[in-house]
Parts: sequence; C-alpha cells; structure tokens
Amino acid sequence: MSGGHNEDLFARARRAMPGGVSSPVRAYGSVGGTPRFLESAHGAYVVDADGREYVDLIASWGPAILGHAHPEVIEAVTDAAARGLSFGASTPAETLLAEEISGRVAAVERVRFVSTGTEATMTAVRLARGVTGRDLIVKFSGHYHGHSDGLLAQAGSGVATLALPGSAGVPEAIAAQTIVVPYNDPAAIAEVFARHPGRIAAVIVEAAAANMGVVAPEPGFNALLAQTCHDNGALLILDEVLTGFRVGPAGYWGVQQQTGETYAPDLFTYGKVIGGGLPVAAVAGRAEVMDLLAPVGPVYQAGTLSGNPVAVAAGLATLRRADAAVYAALDATSAALQAEVGAALEREGVPHVIQTAGNLFSVFWGAPVAGGVPDYETATRQESFRYAAFFHEMLAQGVSLPPSAFEAWFVTASHDADALSRIAAALPAAARAAAS
Ligand code: PLP
Repeated sequence: MSGGHNEDLFARARRAMPGGVSSPVRAYGSVGGTPRFLESAHGAYVVDADGREYVDLIASWGPAILGHAHPEVIEAVTDAAARGLSFGASTPAETLLAEEISGRVAAVERVRFVSTGTEATMTAVRLARGVTGRDLIVKFSGHYHGHSDGLLAQAGSGVATLALPGSAGVPEAIAAQTIVVPYNDPAAIAEVFARHPGRIAAVIVEAAAANMGVVAPEPGFNALLAQTCHDNGALLILDEVLTGFRVGPAGYWGVQQQTGETYAPDLFTYGKVIGGGLPVAAVAGRAEVMDLLAPVGPVYQAGTLSGNPVAVAAGLATLRRADAAVYAALDATSAALQAEVGAALEREGVPHVIQTAGNLFSVFWGAPVAGGVPDYETATRQESFRYAAFFHEMLAQGVSLPPSAFEAWFVTASHDADALSRIAAALPAAARAAAS
C-alpha cells in the first residue's frame, strides 16, 4: 500500500533512471511495494511526497548520527556554501577535519580525503599493493567495501538482497586478484596465507560486519588478522566506513581498544559520519604508509571534489557535536529499541536473533538462524519473507526501516522518547505480520 504521489513518482523515475533509483536497495526489490519518495527530514523523522511522516531507522544508512538537519550542521553548511561551493584547492577546514579524526584515533597519523567509501577502500587497496609490491587481496564473504571491481565478490547486503553472486562486468583477471574467505574463521585465514606465500598485499575487513545484517567479529579475531598480516608482510585494512564514529568516538577499533583487544591496523577507511550527510570519506593510517600517496610517494590518487569545503563543514560540525553524551544517547536508544523489538517478536513467537556491534544492531529472522549468525553462509539462511511482512506493517504505521533484511538498523541522537513510543506502538501488529 502506498500513497498516490509515490506511485506516480516511481513510475516516472523508472522511465528516467534504471529501476527508478540511484542505488539499488532503494527500489524495495526484496520487500516489494513502492519506495517512498522523500521530500524532507528533521531530527528522527522523514517526510514523503504525500506529506506522511515516518520515524526513520535508516538515517541515510549511517551519516545522520545527530538526526536529520541538525541546526549546528545546517548552520555550518550554510556558512560554508555562502563562501563558495568548491575551490579545487586546500582549505583550513580540511586540516581541522583530519586533525579531528587523528585526535580520536590514536593509530591514525595522516588522512587523505575522498568523496565516497568506495573510493576510500579502492585507494586503501592500491596503497597496500604499492607498499608491498604484491597483488592479492583477501576479503570476507558478506563484507561490503563499496562497488569497485576488485571488492564486489560476495559483497553482502546490496548483492545479497538481489540474490546476485557478484556483479557482471568485472573482468575475470581482476576478480582473480581477490580471495574471498569465510568470516570469523581463523583456520581459513591461516590457510589462505599458507597457500599464497609472499603474494598477499592486504586483508580488508569491516571492523564489525554490518552489511549482511550485523555480525561482530569473535573476540580476538581482528587482532589475529593484524598479527597474521604482519607476520606475513601484508597490511590490514580496517573498513570503518559504516562503524567509524558511529559506534563510539574512535569507531569500532576504539571500542575494541577499550575492551582490551589491542591491535594496529595499517590503514583505516572512513565515510558516512565524517561527512555528516554530505560526500566525505577518507583513507587514513600510519604516516609511513600514507606518505606513499602522491604527491609525496608514487601511489596516485586524486579528486576534483575531494575535501569539498561544504562537505567538510558538515563533517566537522557533526564530529565536533558528537561528544560523549551523543554516544551515550545512541547506546541507550539502541538498547531500548532492541528490547522493544525482541519483546514484541517473542510475544508472537517469531523465531529471531538480534545481533549487535556496539550500538549497531540488526534482526535475523526465522528458526534456521535463531541460534546466532557468525558468517554470511548462515545469514543467507534467514527467512527474509518474515522481514518483508514486518517491514510493510511498520511502514504502514509510520516507521521507515531499511528495505532489506540484510541491513543494520540505524538510530540517531534525535530518537527521543516520542520517536521510540511511536515505534513501540507499531511493533505488535508488525510482529503478528512476521509470525504468519
Ligand atoms: N565500506 C563499508 C563498510 C560500507 O558499509 C560502505 C557503504 O555502505 C562502503 C564501504 C561504501 O561506501 P559508499 O557507499 O560511500 O561508496
């Protein structure tokens, strides 16, 4: 069910754009129905073309950590825009944002800004190859690192939603440089390094997997990856595009440091929150590695809009506002929401498991996964039809969830008691829909 404007807009959009969208998951392919076309957003809410307001649990897939259109961010963006949209030259604010990041993450000494997470991971991989003189990259099944050719193999949510093994159009010669191994499996890592001695440039891993639903690394797993890489002359690339500055002030790496799991990734990738809703992403790490990037070193990377002043202003305002109180609010809201969802599903006897990585969480649906999901192979056994029913009942009652069972749910610091009670009111009927 949807309002007339959304139907008309979708029909028109499909004539103008493939699938009517600019990014596949927005087409509602796995849940069916008509995507909502959004006109505006404020705080915890989005408003569609029919003027209907929804509590938003997508948060632009992560960036809107403070809530939509936060006054301090809007003011910073407006000020920056009034001074010019893009210079293609260095700005003082860029350095401030780099310092904000390195000030939070002790293992980061240098930051190179790009515009998307895809560029960040692509650049990190090139840098790792440049540093090591090796070609092979190891990634984990179900982990998403953007849509560059070499990183699309078994890439989680987007491709999982569409039930694709990978993507057409990726040359075999490029795909052959990426080795995909199961997640949370120390033996698989040992085996891959034993099979390709001296040939692996890097292991790339989501700091905590959140693109096949949320699957945290087993205790010690990320540290083991760092150790194995370093023992074998390879680099560890920790992809914090989704988790970075959302699950804590220093990302998931910071959360792990605090719980005593200390390890040193060679490169980090960031995106989403560091742009506060505008296109900023980054590759970051030790000076010794980062200084191999042009113009200091031989690894080329560039961008017309990299470090764009308006986007940097949004990121800086967002990070400066994201203090301890914001992270405490996110943690509390996430825990309260998980409790509400879990109770509603239990009351209706819907088999499920809720998994977390810091304040990120997702629900896996159905008896085959209710015992827990350690990897992608298990994640794909979930009963997505239950989520489709749940999703549409929530939407009908004014709650906008990610349109795929393979995505994390995102809260913001603006999700207050009112937003939570609107969600709680919608849950009983949605849980009943998921039960049948
Ligand atoms: N890495 C991770 C872990 C992500 O979650 C994403 C996007 O969701 C990306 C990389 C790619 O970022 P972008 O969509 O900005 O290209």
